[in-house]
Amino acid sequence: MSRLKLPENRMTARLFTSDYHLHFRLFLIPLIAFFLTLSPLGQRSAQAISMDGIWRYYDGVTPTSPEAIPSWLNQTIRGGFSGWNIYDGVSHPKIDPNATDIWVTTYVPPHSFIQPTLYFITNNQAVEVYYDSHMIYKAGEIGEENYGTRWHLMDLPRDSSGRTLSFHLYSPVNQRLGVINSPNVGNATEQVLSIIWGDVLSLMALPLSLFIIVLVGIYYISHRERIYIYMLTFMTFYSLWLLSTSNIRQIFLDAPVFWRNAQLLSVYLLCPLGNLMARELVDARDKTPFTYIIYAYLGIALLSVLGEGMGYGTMETGVSYSYMLLGTAQLYIMFLISRSAFRGNKQSRALLPSVIALPILGVMDGLTIHYHLLPFSFYWFPLSIIFILYFVIRILQENFAAEQLLNDKNRELEQKLQIDDLTKCFNRGTLNSTLIRDAQMCLRAKVPLSALMLDIDFFKAVNDECGHDAGDKVLVGFAAAIRPLLDSRHTFIRYGGEEFIILCRDFSLTQSEELARTILLTIAGTNFLPDRTITVSIGISSWHGSSDTNLIKRADEALYAAKNAGRNCYRVELE
Ligand code: GH3
Ligand code: MG
Ligand code: MG
Repeated sequence: MSRLKLPENRMTARLFTSDYHLHFRLFLIPLIAFFLTLSPLGQRSAQAISMDGIWRYYDGVTPTSPEAIPSWLNQTIRGGFSGWNIYDGVSHPKIDPNATDIWVTTYVPPHSFIQPTLYFITNNQAVEVYYDSHMIYKAGEIGEENYGTRWHLMDLPRDSSGRTLSFHLYSPVNQRLGVINSPNVGNATEQVLSIIWGDVLSLMALPLSLFIIVLVGIYYISHRERIYIYMLTFMTFYSLWLLSTSNIRQIFLDAPVFWRNAQLLSVYLLCPLGNLMARELVDARDKTPFTYIIYAYLGIALLSVLGEGMGYGTMETGVSYSYMLLGTAQLYIMFLISRSAFRGNKQSRALLPSVIALPILGVMDGLTIHYHLLPFSFYWFPLSIIFILYFVIRILQENFAAEQLLNDKNRELEQKLQIDDLTKCFNRGTLNSTLIRDAQMCLRAKVPLSALMLDIDFFKAVNDECGHDAGDKVLVGFAAAIRPLLDSRHTFIRYGGEEFIILCRDFSLTQSEELARTILLTIAGTNFLPDRTITVSIGISSWHGSSDTNLIKRADEALYAAKNAGRNCYRVELE
């Protein structure tokens, strides 16, 4: 039993030690970002005054013509709010289900701000704001579709404490008509800052996300693999989501309908795309559940878009189903990836933090939005960039390492093909290419090139008298004795049997003669075998320029001359 458990334990240990420690440090960044975010948000709630006083809505037919409004508003308010009902401002008031517009009113809370500024958020509504009975702000068109969430910010007069504020709201989708989220009055500077602070996580995540797109894009150009396409698509919709949920989107492009569709589309696509990526990386036998879940997400998306096209406004309700799937089916996916990671699949290990963190953050956002848990618009999901970054870096690292290994193996193999097993000199096959390379280099640098051909004397006798193994020993020792005499300008080639060639770049005949003399002395002075002196004969030639193709032949002739002259000597080519 204990023996069976061992590998699993080792795997667990490996998952949480060594380099994993280092990588987990990465996750300190979101923690710091989180506290950075919360402190200014806390400040905002301390400084701004929330408008949770009395809210009223007008229950009846209201005028929509702008000319009629000021006098109508004055009259109804002066008339002691007759026809107005009290509600809390944040829930949908119980009005005629077919109504498309509504009037609501409240008071500016008592304040002493120097630059009082009103802030609130609306969903799917066009808004007109009236101070006393003058219109001070307008967003969207009454009578038109006004999908999307937008924040509103407007100046109020300094002495606005206790004055009446009225809102004319219009929406063809009734569910949220009359709902005004997070209304508060604060100082202009702090209000603007808090809008930007609400984006801190997105603003941190967006550049990283774009960085990943560039990184993976570059990688894809040289490695056309499907996984990178999935990663690129995922990151594109991820960036779109970040932008479409940020507050600053409205400064770039004041088009709530566009941002609303961009946000919904990215929510619908991020789930299946994330699973598609995971599917590519898990073990083959685990792929099927991913396929089903991807189809389920796509099914929900398709039905929602179809319903929206048919005028049922299902794009937003459908998202809740996506979140439900995220909170349930994704648990099974977490299990599959964890199992694959613990079995040792390195890619699953890289994916594991993301697979756990992304659905949790997504569900946290789903719950926060659905139950209005926070009084301001805030998303946890951008924190996921850290996990994604970790995943991308690990995957690229993994692939780099695999490539490195392959390259090293190739190089090793290539070298093996060029090297003589016995003497570790280059083999005869490399002579031509080396000669061409050296000739080109010497021609360009205008330096001489010469060749030494070496042949061990009476080697046949060594074999015959001491045995073939002793002969081999001499060959190995011979090469080893010469190698220290050479430098980077030399190429040492075993030409065959007991014959060797040394190509000498940037070497004149005089230098080659000197080298030959050193070799002769070294070999004659080395004890290769007991009671036996080994000698070598050497022929030297020098290259005569680009039309010369006989360098080796002349070295061979010079060697022949050296043999004829009694061996253990060198001869230089005849001009
Ligand atoms: P010379 O002084 O004229 O060069 O005489 P030599 O005996 O060296 O000349 P020859 O070229 O006739 O002999 C070369 C011998 O080298 C023949 C062959 O048996 C031996 N030989 C070739 N390759 C190897 C090898 O890899 N290992 C061993 N042990 N012997 C080899
Ligand atoms: Mg020979
Ligand atoms: Mg010989």
